[in-house]
Amino acid sequence: MSREDYEVVIGLEVHCELSTKTKIFCSCSTEFGGEPNTHCCPICMAMPGTLPVLNEKVVEYAVKAGLATNCKIEKNSKNDRKNYFYPDNPKSYQISQYDKPLCYDGYVTIEDEKGTEKKIRIERIHIEEDAGKLNHDEYGRGSFVDLNRAGVPLIEVVSKPDLRSAYEVESYMKKLKSIFEYIEISDCKMQEGSLRADVNVSIRKKGSSELGTRTEMKNMNSFKSIVRAIDYEIDRQIEVVEDGGEIVQETLRWDDISGRTFSMRDKEDAQDYRYFPEPDLVAIRLSDEYVDNIRKELPELPESRKKRYVEEIGLSEKAANFVTSSKYYSNMFEKASEISNNPKAVSNWLMSDIARIMNEKELEPDAIPFSAENLAELIVLIDKETISNSIGKKVLEELFENPKEPSKIIEEKGWVQISDEGAIKEVVLKVLENNPQSVADYKAGKDKALGYLVGQAMKETRGKANPQMLNKMFMEELKK
Ligand code: ADP
Ligand code: ZN
Ligand code: MG
Repeated sequence: MSREDYEVVIGLEVHCELSTKTKIFCSCSTEFGGEPNTHCCPICMAMPGTLPVLNEKVVEYAVKAGLATNCKIEKNSKNDRKNYFYPDNPKSYQISQYDKPLCYDGYVTIEDEKGTEKKIRIERIHIEEDAGKLNHDEYGRGSFVDLNRAGVPLIEVVSKPDLRSAYEVESYMKKLKSIFEYIEISDCKMQEGSLRADVNVSIRKKGSSELGTRTEMKNMNSFKSIVRAIDYEIDRQIEVVEDGGEIVQETLRWDDISGRTFSMRDKEDAQDYRYFPEPDLVAIRLSDEYVDNIRKELPELPESRKKRYVEEIGLSEKAANFVTSSKYYSNMFEKASEISNNPKAVSNWLMSDIARIMNEKELEPDAIPFSAENLAELIVLIDKETISNSIGKKVLEELFENPKEPSKIIEEKGWVQISDEGAIKEVVLKVLENNPQSVADYKAGKDKALGYLVGQAMKETRGKANPQMLNKMFMEELKK
C-alpha cells in the first residue's frame, strides 16, 4: 500500500490568550514579557488561602468568540479543577472547564486545496488560565520559573477531527486568527504564544469510518512548523503501519531543527486529571439578554464583508477572499476605497504588489508600514496621471522603506510625470533625430520600430513621460 491508500485525520485544540487588561482571577497585568515575576500577586502565585475572582471580561470575550464561530452558548456554565503537577503550575491544578464549557457545537468555514468551501466543526470553547513559564538556563545551572504568564486568560477551541491535510489545518488556524482579530479579543501574536495549537494526527485506510490511534504535538506556534510537523508525522505513522507496527497514543514534541518528532510522554486521559467543580468560584449563569447584547455588538465578520465586496463593489470572489483574510487588509481596503473612490485599484494593489512585498519581507498583515490614506493618495496620483503606473510601483517600494505622503515622495524624487506638451515634443524630436534607422524602418512598414522609439523617449525621461502623449506625438511626427 502507499500513501494514497490512507486518509489523514486531524483535530486541533487551539489556545488563544485573551487581551483583557488583567488576569483571569486577579488584577495583575496580562502584558507580555516584563522582568520575571513582576506581574504577580499572592493569587496568581498560588499562596495558600487566597481566593480567585472571575474576571467578567473573560466571559464576555469567550462568548464573543463562540458567537463569531457559530457556537451555542451555555447559559448554565461553571469552572472545574484540572489536577496535574508541573513546576510552572504552583497550584498543582489549573482552573479550566470540564463538562459545561461556555460555548459548544459551532463551526467555521475554510477553503480546501481545491478552493472548495468546507465546514470545520467546533466541539467546544472553554475558558481557563495559562500556566507560568520555565526558563532553562543555557549553562545547565537549572531552570527558573517566571509566573508573569500564570493566570493570563485563555480560551481553548477544540475542533472535531474534521481536518484532512496540513493545508486545511493552516487555513483553519488562519481563519480562527482572522476572526479573533476582527472581534478584538486577542492580539493573536503567534511568535509570542498568544495563539498556539495542540495538533492531533491519525491515519486510517481510505474508506474506513473508524478513527485511528492519534498522536498529539503540543504548543505549536508557527504555521511553518505546523505544516512541517504534520507532514513528518503522517509519513512516520504510515511507515509504522506499513511495517506491521501499531501507533502508540502519545504526546510528541516537534523539533524544528532536526525536523522530527520525539516522544514526550504517554497520553493522559481525562480521568488522570481527576476533574472536579472548582469550589472557590460560583457557577456562571448567563441571561438571554446578556448574550443578545454581546451578539448585537459583534462587528461585521469576514464572511459578511466578503459577500458585500462581491455583491456591492463587484470584486471577484478571489479578491474578496484575499482582502477579508485579515481585518488589517479589510480595514485598509474600506478606508482607501472611500478616499480614492477606486475600490478595484485598492484591491489590485493589495492582492498583487503589496502582498508580494509583505511576503518577501515576511511581514504579517498588521505590520503594513503605511496608512490607508497613503495608499489612497498613490491611487489618486495615478488616476490623475500625475505619475505613471510604473512610477507608482516605485512609490510603493518607497512606502515600505520610508512611509510618508506619496506626493512628497514623488516631489523629493522628482518622479512627477511629464505631461507638458512642449517638453514631450522636445524629447520626441531629439529621439527621432538620434535614431534615423528606426524612423526609416517605421516608414517601411515595421510598426515595431515605434515601440523602440517610445522606449528611447522613456529612457531619456527616466520613465516620467506620459506614455499616451508620447505615443500620440510620435505618430504625428512620423506622419510628417
Ligand atoms: P484531549 O486531547 O484533551 O484528551 P479529546 O480526546 O477531546 O481531548 O481530543 C482533543 C482533540 O483531538 C480534538 O480536537 C479531536 O478532534 C482530536 N482527535 C480526537 N481523536 C482523534 C483522532 N483519532 N485523530 C485525530 N484527531 C483526533
Ligand atoms: Zn495576580
Ligand atoms: Mg489534547
